[in-house]
Amino acid sequence: MQKTAPVNCPKSAICALYNDKILKGNGNNNVYKLIYCTTCRFKNCKRYHTYRMAGQCPDFIMPNSKHGSDYILRKIEEEIPTEAFPGLAGE
Ligand code: SF4
Repeated sequence: MQKTAPVNCPKSAICALYNDKILKGNGNNNVYKLIYCTTCRFKNCKRYHTYRMAGQCPDFIMPNSKHGSDYILRKIEEEIPTEAFPGLAGE
């Protein structure tokens, strides 16, 4: 029987969910890691797609979240402090 190579999501190094910064409790109990992060299903993960699209991912997004890209991008923009873009204040 042929062994398959272990899989790890390419975004695991930067993913807050994978690095146990979002969910409470022991990281070993994080079923998302078993279902998505360490299997080929990372390709179906909403966080993975958000990282690829925006370079970051809000903490409220879970691998099986149903939010659309427009909604997620709007939430990311809302989190950017306006002091960082003084020309955009009041727009
Ligand atoms: S599969 Fe999703 S939750 Fe897991 S490390 Fe990748 S981006 Fe993060």
